[in-house]
Amino acid sequence: MSALPRRAGLVVGVIAAVIGLQLVAPQADAAAPEAVVRESGRQADVLELALKVRERQQRLTALYRQADQRDRALVGRKAVLAQYGYTGDPDRVRAVLPLASYRLSAGFGLTGPLWEAEHGGQDFSTSLGDQLVAVAAGDVTEVAYAGPYGLRTILTLPDGTEVWYCHQTDVSVYAGQHVEVAEPIGSVGSTGNSTGPHLHLEVRPDGGLPIDPADWLRAAGLSP
Ligand SMILES: [Zn+2]
Repeated sequence: MSALPRRAGLVVGVIAAVIGLQLVAPQADAAAPEAVVRESGRQADVLELALKVRERQQRLTALYRQADQRDRALVGRKAVLAQYGYTGDPDRVRAVLPLASYRLSAGFGLTGPLWEAEHGGQDFSTSLGDQLVAVAAGDVTEVAYAGPYGLRTILTLPDGTEVWYCHQTDVSVYAGQHVEVAEPIGSVGSTGNSTGPHLHLEVRPDGGLPIDPADWLRAAGLSP
């Protein structure tokens, strides 16, 4: 009598165990998607990290590229300024020569048949169409034909000094325009009272009587 319930108990136990397994098995199966979720969660983290790293690399690359462009611009600016006689720190440039290449011809204060009075400027002989640049930052205060001076641009510096560019063939600035040092302003010509392409440069402190432009350029640290 006592064996039956024991066997029955065993059967129940086995059944329970099988059911249990069946119950456990789906539970184990149910755990698998969670693991997948956790796993995909980790993958998402990894992906997110990878994206962040890539974003950071792209940002750095962009920064390096910008720095490289700045360097190149600086090297380019340095080279341009060197063409106009300035070899120092580009950030500190105050004055440059008006032309990249020239031969000094008639100097300041000469007298002769070409001039009604003393020669009021310095002549720079060069080729027709050569680029003229602003010797310093300032405002263009006049662009006009001016009799013997031909096509003339007047650049007025912050201290009131007028710089006259005469005999131009072409002008690339307009009155009222602010120009930076070494900025192109026009090109060499032979307009007005001139016997060949050259720049007649005048420097007039406070817009008054002219002084020797070569001296003025030397005082600005240049070697005309
Ligand atoms: Zn002259």
